[in-house]
Amino acid sequence: MYDRFDRNINYLRISVTDRCNLRCSYCMPEEGIQLLRHSDILSFSEITSFTAAAVKYGVTKVRITGGEPLVRKGITALVRMISDISGIEDLSMTTNGVLLKEFAVELKSAGLQRVNISLDTIDPEKFRAITRTGDISQVFEGIKAAVNAGLLPVKINCVIKESKKEPEAMEVTRFCQDNNLEIRYIRQMDLVTGHFSPVDGGTGGDCQSCNRLRLTANGKLKPCLFSDIELDIRELGFEKALMKSVELKPECGSKNETGKFYNIGG
Ligand code: SAM
Ligand code: SF4
Repeated sequence: MYDRFDRNINYLRISVTDRCNLRCSYCMPEEGIQLLRHSDILSFSEITSFTAAAVKYGVTKVRITGGEPLVRKGITALVRMISDISGIEDLSMTTNGVLLKEFAVELKSAGLQRVNISLDTIDPEKFRAITRTGDISQVFEGIKAAVNAGLLPVKINCVIKESKKEPEAMEVTRFCQDNNLEIRYIRQMDLVTGHFSPVDGGTGGDCQSCNRLRLTANGKLKPCLFSDIELDIRELGFEKALMKSVELKPECGSKNETGKFYNIGG
């Protein structure tokens, strides 16, 4: 699918839940969120059929995200259903890593190719402060399990304030060098004020080359993270939502006053 600005839209990011087992300060309020009703959350068969439609129209790259995707019940079965769609060349997941030790082997055998794991510091106290509840040793174990299971390349998503030379980020950089992990630095964004910049080491945040569509856990297809535009796949039907979303994809993001990271999936 080509949009009005001749960008080849071939990348679908799917948020499979708005729930999370952490409360990162830049993503969720401490008290938690008003959770989506179960009936509003897309079923596995809706997610899979929608993905198959997107693949039919040229999507080749799919990422599963959240909230925390590993807290969605039956996630391995969903990964298997998606990986069975022929035409997907790259199937990945973004996770906070907390539950990866438990899931890495089964995710790999279900067809997941690789993971991005979020890690902004290697200091246990700072990690707890950022995530408000997290135990960093679980993430370290999750990273090891992902490498051992062959979910490669394992990439680390490191959120920074301004620069990758900040002390926390430098420590994460060293940790990645020592453990043969790739790293991408994501500047902390603000959806409401429209504060964003390209991801260092990754492909996000560069409007000119943006090839993404995002599906929220409750079935809204979003052509741009920094826009309020969304198309309801249940109301419109899958193909029409896809066509409209590509047609309305803005040349460049501005701001998003209605969405949240935990709902859209970053
Ligand atoms: N729970 C999973 C995780 O944390 O990896 C997946 C969902 S999370 C919303 C996806 C990515 O968005 C993570 O790498 C996270 O660090 C990033 N993120 C969340 N809030 C952000 C913000 N305000 N600015 C930049 N990145 C953010
Ligand atoms: Fe949860 Fe990921 Fe948001 Fe942190 S960034 S609160 S782990 S969804």
